[in-house]
Order: sequence, then structure tokens, then C-alpha cells
Amino acid sequence: MININKTIAKRCTSSQSSILNPQSSTEFEKDRALIYRSKQHRAKTIILDRDGVINEDSDAYIKSPEEWIPIPGSLEAIARLNKAGYQAFVISNQSGIGRKLFDIKTLETIHEKMNQQLALQGGRIEKIYFCPHKPEDNCDCRKPKIGLFKQLQKDYALSDLKNVYYIGDKYIDFLMAKKAHCPFIFVLTGHGHEEFKIHQDTFDIEKNLLIAKNLAQAVDFILGNK
Ligand SMILES: [Mg+2]
Ligand SMILES: [Zn+2]
Repeated sequence: MININKTIAKRCTSSQSSILNPQSSTEFEKDRALIYRSKQHRAKTIILDRDGVINEDSDAYIKSPEEWIPIPGSLEAIARLNKAGYQAFVISNQSGIGRKLFDIKTLETIHEKMNQQLALQGGRIEKIYFCPHKPEDNCDCRKPKIGLFKQLQKDYALSDLKNVYYIGDKYIDFLMAKKAHCPFIFVLTGHGHEEFKIHQDTFDIEKNLLIAKNLAQAVDFILGNK
């Protein structure tokens, strides 16, 4: 995707000079069509937290495919987004790896299970970004830091974030979305209820905070507002 965009950007630059040259106007028109098409065909983007949004969370961490249990309606909700032209991404803190509770290979098998179950519903996650570090590692990718978001933004050349919703069940998700300038939907699944109580003062100030019962309701909102 990045390469295509770079190519288009280059063509745009060269075509600007061709405006002054009527002989190459056909080429200019072709370039315009290309830009138009690429905009039209560009998928809309949604970014999800994983634990507590897609699957049930656990204070003991999700350490095996067996422990990965989807929240009712969440996989269908992702499939509905895909059908409406959205590419779905995951940004997830997985400090269980840094804590040596499970390794990256196991995380991959967990994600295989998620992807397979999602595929059965006709859904697909484009890419999963995760931070494997412990909080004390002080990395740039652990939420609420926006290292993973920046990586996604770069990988997929996201520029206009106005409609790039991020959906999470924790205060750190809210903070990350705020720093990333993404609209945020807070879901009450996973740690949602307890986090909402703990950070109620902050959330009260956020008059426009969107709160949904679960991912399915958040998706209803997004699709209904398009
Ligand atoms: Mg979560
Ligand atoms: Zn990290």
C-alpha cells in the first residue's frame, strides 16, 4: 500500500508540471483517474484493542488458545465492518510475553485461533500489532504510548484520522486514542465497567466520550453513522 501511494505521489508531482504542457494532458487525466480510484478503493480503517474487546479478558492473562474466548457478537461485528469496507487492525499490549508467561509462538497460535474463528464469520483482521514488553521496560510501544499506532499509520499510510475509530476497554486505550487524535469508543466489556468507575472523573469531563455496551453496539454506531 505504501509503495502504491508513493508511486501516486510521484506521479502527482510530475503531472503538476504537465498542466503547463497541453500535450501531456491525457497523461494528466490518467493520473487524476488514478488518484480518484485509489481514494475510492481505499478501505476505511478501524483499530481494536484485543483483550476485553474481541475476547474475554483475564487477570491471569490469555496464555493459550484455549484461554482465548470470543465475546459474544464480537467476531460477527468485525465481519460486518469488513463487509462495509473496513480494514480492521488490532493494537494490543501483551506484557505476558515480557513476563515470560507465554512466548511469541504461543501468541501466534492464539491469533491463529482468533483468525480462524473470525474467518468462519466471514471476517478478517488485516494486521495485529502488539507490544511484548513489561511496563518497566519503558518501551515506546506499550499503550498508552502510541508507538504501535505510529507504526500502523506508517505501514498503511493513514493520513486522515477523522473516521479512524479506536475501540478499547481501558483508560490507557482512551489515552492512546487521544494522543493519536483518533475518535475513541469505550466499551463496557472486559475491564470496561471497572475502568469506567475508577476514571469516572476524567470521563465525566469528556462530554463527547462514546460509550458502547460491547463491540457489536460500537459497530452498530459506526455503521449507522456513515
Ligand atoms: Mg483491553
Ligand atoms: Zn513495547
